[in-house]
Amino acid sequence: MSISSIVRRTLGLKDHRVVSVRFTTDELRIELDAKKGRKLPCSICDQRIVPKDMLQERCWQHVSLWGIPVYLYYSPRRVKCPTHGVRVENIPWSTGKKPLSYPLIIMLAFWSRVLPWNQVAQLFNVSWNTVRSAVDAAVSYGRDHEDYKNVRFIGIDEVSRKRGHEYHTNVYDLERKRLIWSGAHRDKDSLRRFFQWWGEERTAVIDGVCCDMWQNYIDVVQEYCINAVIVFDKFHIVRHLLDAIDKVRKMEAKALAESDCELLKKTRYLWLKNPWNLTKKQKARLTDLLNMKLKTVKAYLLKELFRKLWEYRRKAWAERYLKQWFWWATHSRIKPLRDFAWMLRRHEYGILSYFDLQIHNGLTEAMNNNVKVISHRARGYRSEKNYSLALIHSLGKLELPKCQHKFW
Ligand SMILES: [Zn+2]
Repeated sequence: MSISSIVRRTLGLKDHRVVSVRFTTDELRIELDAKKGRKLPCSICDQRIVPKDMLQERCWQHVSLWGIPVYLYYSPRRVKCPTHGVRVENIPWSTGKKPLSYPLIIMLAFWSRVLPWNQVAQLFNVSWNTVRSAVDAAVSYGRDHEDYKNVRFIGIDEVSRKRGHEYHTNVYDLERKRLIWSGAHRDKDSLRRFFQWWGEERTAVIDGVCCDMWQNYIDVVQEYCINAVIVFDKFHIVRHLLDAIDKVRKMEAKALAESDCELLKKTRYLWLKNPWNLTKKQKARLTDLLNMKLKTVKAYLLKELFRKLWEYRRKAWAERYLKQWFWWATHSRIKPLRDFAWMLRRHEYGILSYFDLQIHNGLTEAMNNNVKVISHRARGYRSEKNYSLALIHSLGKLELPKCQHKFW
């Protein structure tokens, strides 16, 4: 099989032919031409029309062959479409103005979902920018083919980038378990950018929004989604509670250490882990400690009691229990717990709405682990925009463009 037949086959050429294949010093140069007398499709409506003239020669980088870079050269034809006027033909191996062939875009994009971009670049002998550009094209394609209709429940979460110095706001489709948007920072404007992109029509369909008790997010959700119910994510709520418990332990451990008592030393996880996840040894230690008169024990027991809240099926019962727990916590004489209880009181509406909608960001927590993997790979994403692009590409479940030949 000659190289030109391979090219013909992998590009799926029908209206075009390979004119020549030449080795130059460092590339395989493939010249293409339109078949004589062939009608070519309008790039807007695909109606086939006899071409009227041609444009200047363009060049596309294609999938390399045995490590040799391959370039396609072709002068695009223009057609005069009765509906759309003078248009460039729909070139089967090209998308927009990108100087990359469709198969190359698909292949780079495919591997960029699983490998760091710099490795993809190395593997396929292209520049880092080429990989970025391919991912960009694949995401645009995916977005164009995705109407995001009927996204009823969204989850908003933040992720930290660069070891917690920078934040990104991520928006998830909770039903289809996918990331739909990612943008820099976690202020009001970041979330506003999401709603502006999402548009009024799609926003009107949103029934529930799940997020942390973070005022910036709450304000913007109320600004854009008046009809949606806000549900505060139960995993975030529990995390705030665990932080409070840990504060209590730290304060008490410090006080005890001053009188040379090391009772609470190395006990952090005993209090924070779910009891059924403790080892036998840890369980025994915890049982011993629970008999002591310690603030940490009291806080721990309150934490365990709080768990019961999520078991209620009826909102009214949950509300009653929450009030009860609030009373216990505010009368515990433990400041971190009192603060936590008051925070709950201020956000009660969104805590109890969980019992109407039962949505939570559990899945986004799981996806956040993937986000972390991507962030670790990311050292090379170079900018916030690219980081968002990488996240959407890996977690957005977007369709990849298809091509005639599978290169992997
Ligand atoms: Zn047309």
